[in-house]
Amino acid sequence: MTAPVRTESSAELIRAEEPVLAHNYHPLPVVVARAEGAWVEDVEGRRYLDMLAGYSALNFGHRNPALIEAAHRQLDRLTLTSRAFHNDRLAEFAASLAELTGLDMVLPMNTGAEAVESAVKVARKWAYEVKGVPADRATIVVAADNFHGRTTTIVSFSTDETARAGFGPFTPGFRVVPYNDLAALEAAVDETTAAVLIEPIQGEAGVIIPDEGYLTGVRDLTRRAGCLFIADEIQSGLGRTGRTLAVDHEGVVPDVLLLGKALGGGIVPVSAVVARREVMEVLKPGEHGSTFGGNPLAAAVGSAVVDLLRTGEFQRRAAESGVVLREGLEALVGKGVVGFRARGLWAGVDVDPAVGTGREISERLMREGILVKDTHGSTIRIAPPLTVTEEELRSALGALEKVLTA
Ligand SMILES: *Cc1c(COP(=O)(O)O)cnc(C)c1O
Repeated sequence: MTAPVRTESSAELIRAEEPVLAHNYHPLPVVVARAEGAWVEDVEGRRYLDMLAGYSALNFGHRNPALIEAAHRQLDRLTLTSRAFHNDRLAEFAASLAELTGLDMVLPMNTGAEAVESAVKVARKWAYEVKGVPADRATIVVAADNFHGRTTTIVSFSTDETARAGFGPFTPGFRVVPYNDLAALEAAVDETTAAVLIEPIQGEAGVIIPDEGYLTGVRDLTRRAGCLFIADEIQSGLGRTGRTLAVDHEGVVPDVLLLGKALGGGIVPVSAVVARREVMEVLKPGEHGSTFGGNPLAAAVGSAVVDLLRTGEFQRRAAESGVVLREGLEALVGKGVVGFRARGLWAGVDVDPAVGTGREISERLMREGILVKDTHGSTIRIAPPLTVTEEELRSALGALEKVLTA
């Protein structure tokens, strides 16, 4: 990385945001100006190890050379057609994503929330046209403490009051059951149920990993009940957990899979609904769409992401480095860490509230050159790019030990 290009200081830029930028975030006071791999650099030239990786949108590292090259090549040729016309990149993207996931058909969208919204629509239409649910009676069963995005329909089935309060009236048709509770799920599913929508690992909730057998149970239950299993792998998917998908840990294939975040390679927003053919075929021309969904730039980057995943290298790195992460965190239990959950290169770490809030720990780590993000009180989330080296991981764990025991 070369010298910073900006003349304003971090403090000036943070002050300049306040009157003109909506206050819907409370970022750490670091102003990033450039990045490469697992490292970011602020406007003063201070370097930080990025242990958040854009909430897993940067699984392949900042400015991954293969992805940047694919984007550059496409920028020089064609960027947008809208779906009024075909473009020469979309067939390859859809075919490669279907092959990677073992499903049949792809609905390309942009953001994660759009993929979730699209899946809700597909599941409802499937319920009316294929399952025979009476008009406007379809229900979708979701889990408590879910995070599926920020639209009005999605916050309608959130259990996080901060995300909901003040945004009603809410969309009906959702039932909430406790996560990781097959009996509660079974009790909530009936003849009106279009789908069960869950995260195979709940990210925002604090990297909550269900018991072994839960995903298999959801698969069996939904098959028996004749409803769809929708797995939201927008954060858990694409290598993060040491496998291509989090459902791969139980060898389960959902009917509908939601991908986003890392699918755009940290370059452009790319999301997708991937589904079995007889489910996706309920959509007919004009019934759903997106101006930017499936644009050639997104398709080129998305195809390059699938190419990276096809090698298996990133999944292997996440699994191997995940052992270092787990062992490092185990050594901190009792030294400021009260508990943690980890799979692959993804961990939710509960810090002793007496040592500090998650926010305070994140700020102290920032001063040590490590960027993480707190979630829910005293939990911090660790999710570095899958390209992080074991040495970098050890240095981050060393910094965490330092701030917890200072
Ligand atoms: C981030 C996320 C979303 C929403 O994605 P956006 O691109 O922010 O709309 C949905 N589901 C899960 C599991 C996520 O982590």
